[in-house]
Amino acid sequence: MMIPTIPTPDEILDKGFSRGKKAADLLRTQKIPKHLKGKKIEERRVVTACQVMKDKLKSIIDAVPEIEELHPFYQDYIDITVGVDSMKQALGALNWAYGILAQLEREYSRKLKRSPSEKASAIQREAYGRIASVINKIEKDLDFLDFAKSKLRNMPTIDFDATTIVIAGFPNVGKSTLLRQISGADPQVADYPFTTKGIQIGHTERHWKSIQFIDTPGLLDRPVMEMNDIEMNAIVALEHLADAILFIYDGSETCGFHLESQYNLQKQIAKIFDEIPIIHLFNKMDIEQDEEYINQFVDDPDNTLFISALDGDGIDKINEIIDTIEKIDRTVEDEEELDYY
Ligand code: GDP
Repeated sequence: MMIPTIPTPDEILDKGFSRGKKAADLLRTQKIPKHLKGKKIEERRVVTACQVMKDKLKSIIDAVPEIEELHPFYQDYIDITVGVDSMKQALGALNWAYGILAQLEREYSRKLKRSPSEKASAIQREAYGRIASVINKIEKDLDFLDFAKSKLRNMPTIDFDATTIVIAGFPNVGKSTLLRQISGADPQVADYPFTTKGIQIGHTERHWKSIQFIDTPGLLDRPVMEMNDIEMNAIVALEHLADAILFIYDGSETCGFHLESQYNLQKQIAKIFDEIPIIHLFNKMDIEQDEEYINQFVDDPDNTLFISALDGDGIDKINEIIDTIEKIDRTVEDEEELDYY
């Protein structure tokens, strides 16, 4: 998400005050009746300072997209990463400061117009004091937005029109090897909460259909029981995207995990991704394996393939299954969700 560069309170104040001074100085050389000149100069100074600071705040507020209008995946992502409520609170504070500045601008402009020029300097100083106090009050909100900017800098770019396949399985079963085999070029690597190597996204086109593969090393690769609520939320965010799961097993067990644990993980993931079809891939078939042993863990033979991601063996068959996968229409589901509010 694009959050612009976030200034500190001092930076906002310096910019506003120095622009105010410049604008005021321009009036000094102009011919203005003596009794009006002092207050005109101070009015210009205060109004310019307020306008410059308001513009700065507005440019930040406008640049941050409305969170409610983002795809549910991004809403969840932002919530897990920085917290949607904190984000709204910080933006709300900037809006508040904008409103107060507009108020001060009007108030002091009026005050200066009504006062004699001898009092203009004192009134201007009072205005600047109040402006500084407003901007200083939003220091923690500016800090938060700066933090959010760095946390959200490398968000994954998701193609919401593509059919999306989420890859899961224990570490070292061959997930990233498969991702490369099946989607060719180097995958996009982006940040993803609770993943060791971020999220990896590969794209391919099949029969004019865009397909997107997502691998989340460090997330969908360990027992769900060990996860805390926030980690679970990081998985749930993927639910808004997944049209199918490719679950990879390593029957050779060279990954270091027994097939039984791998099977149990698959069951847990199936439960989380309720109703999303799972394609079961037994990988590393180039290594000698015990068929009878493996078959104990096959309970959906029609959706099970034996492959070697390393050799590219079985990739064609995976593609054939993927061709039959329909993109899940979630628009209805999302509208129903909205009804609750
Ligand atoms: P990930 O952690 O699940 O992404 O696993 P990787 O794709 O990094 O693979 C882990 C290790 O298994 C690497 O050394 C791969 O070369 C190896 N590997 C992956 N697929 C196969 C396969 O089909 N056959 C064999 N023999 N090794 C494989």
